Amino acid sequence: MFDSTAPDFDPTFTEALRRLAALHPGEYARTRNALDGAVSGLSPYLAHGIVSMRQCVAHLAQRHRLGFDDKLIFEFAWREFFHHVWSREGDAVLRDMRPAALGPSPRASAMPSDIREARTGVPAIDTAVRLLYTTGYLHNHARMWLASYVVHLRKVHWRAGADWMFGHLLDGDVPSNHLSWQWVAGTFSSKPYLFNADNVARYAPKRDFKAWVSKGTVIDQGYDALERIAQAHADVGPEAGAHAAVAEPALLPEPPQDAATCIDLRATGSVASDAFSRLFANRRAVELVHPWQMSERDEPSSLRLGVIHLPAHAELPWSEQRWRWVLQRLQAVTDGVVIGDLGTLRLPPGVSATTCAAPMPGYDAALRSVATLQPAPRLMPNPEQTCRSFTSYYQAVRKSVPSLQHLLNRSLFDD
Ligand SMILES: Cc1cc2nc3c(=O)[nH]c(=O)nc-3n(C[C@H](O)[C@H](O)[C@H](O)COP(=O)(O)OP(=O)(O)OC[C@H]3O[C@@H](n4cnc5c(N)ncnc54)[C@H](O)[C@@H]3O)c2cc1C
Repeated sequence: MFDSTAPDFDPTFTEALRRLAALHPGEYARTRNALDGAVSGLSPYLAHGIVSMRQCVAHLAQRHRLGFDDKLIFEFAWREFFHHVWSREGDAVLRDMRPAALGPSPRASAMPSDIREARTGVPAIDTAVRLLYTTGYLHNHARMWLASYVVHLRKVHWRAGADWMFGHLLDGDVPSNHLSWQWVAGTFSSKPYLFNADNVARYAPKRDFKAWVSKGTVIDQGYDALERIAQAHADVGPEAGAHAAVAEPALLPEPPQDAATCIDLRATGSVASDAFSRLFANRRAVELVHPWQMSERDEPSSLRLGVIHLPAHAELPWSEQRWRWVLQRLQAVTDGVVIGDLGTLRLPPGVSATTCAAPMPGYDAALRSVATLQPAPRLMPNPEQTCRSFTSYYQAVRKSVPSLQHLLNRSLFDD
């Protein structure tokens, strides 16, 4: 069983396969809501394209009978749904998709320091923040609790919380993250998400129960009382007597200097360096590999160039832990890594580049300026009209393909 309190995420395809082999759809369905349930820990691999959704389902289908009604496929579909919305709405997912149904407006535009320092005095929140910083991962329920507390009790705008969590997660993915925060806030759902201490006690991990259980704190109330708090303007603030616990790791707009050997476009200007030109000796085609598509290389002879578009990371910076994780993988699956403003990248004459769309604001325009852009690979069809709810999306998917097996047979970039 995957231990979500101390996950070890090796950035390799082998590790993704190991996690897939350990995954049992029946056990997943029975236990996924519990923090010590049999969840996969596949999100960093899916978010960064180390493994694709199609590969996951194909591997699982070899050992298990799977259909659209399986809980695991349903959860996979949530990811595809968020990416469907992103593909149709783009940067609009960074703003309220609809007016909030609950609570004050405007809200705080910055995360309070007591939350960032894990000293709210609510154990479920402080433990989640600590885990986020140390592991770069949180179970879905812990993400929901944290987001709900930030938005509904502390009166912070979901965008501030989403940007902060995104930066610290190894799997930080704008469509899944920002739309989930909006789902909790009620700007992308019909009902805001609230939780209480009983809910935490029900799903907290047995082994580490004491660290989560939050009896006697502000969340130890009935749902009517919590809804009144969520409607009110006042921030409930930290619990009395809560004190400093951890320093927040810095969020960095660029990788630490020693994380990787990169060709830096800022140093070479728009003209690429000798090291860069040497990579291209006699090659006419290059695949640009960005951080969301770091798949295994299947043709060792073709040229693969890793690319990091720094201006996009100034807006949504990452933790050092994530930079190192991404760069370790990017170096392993490419012939070289270029960082800087991709708008200034000039490929040698006669060389053509291809890549696929990235789910990160700012990337696609820059990638398009230098390469032919394919749609991002997906398993499920991408309805033409934006589906505003998961239910309408999943209905549209199920209407357009008779079975999961048909989906596996479709071509990789079918839209
Ligand atoms: C506030 C908030 C922020 C989130 N931010 C992210 C994020 O940045 N990146 C991210 O990948 N997911 C995000 N999620 C969704 C979900 O929490 C994670 O995908 C999941 O917890 C990852 O753990 P796992 O791989 O063990 O999931 P499992 O339960 O094993 O699920 C397998 C895969 O299915 C997909 N999945 C499962 N549940 C969801 C869900 N609710 N929404 C979307 N996809 C899902 C993921 O790709 C996941 O890896 C967020 C959820 C919330 C409530």
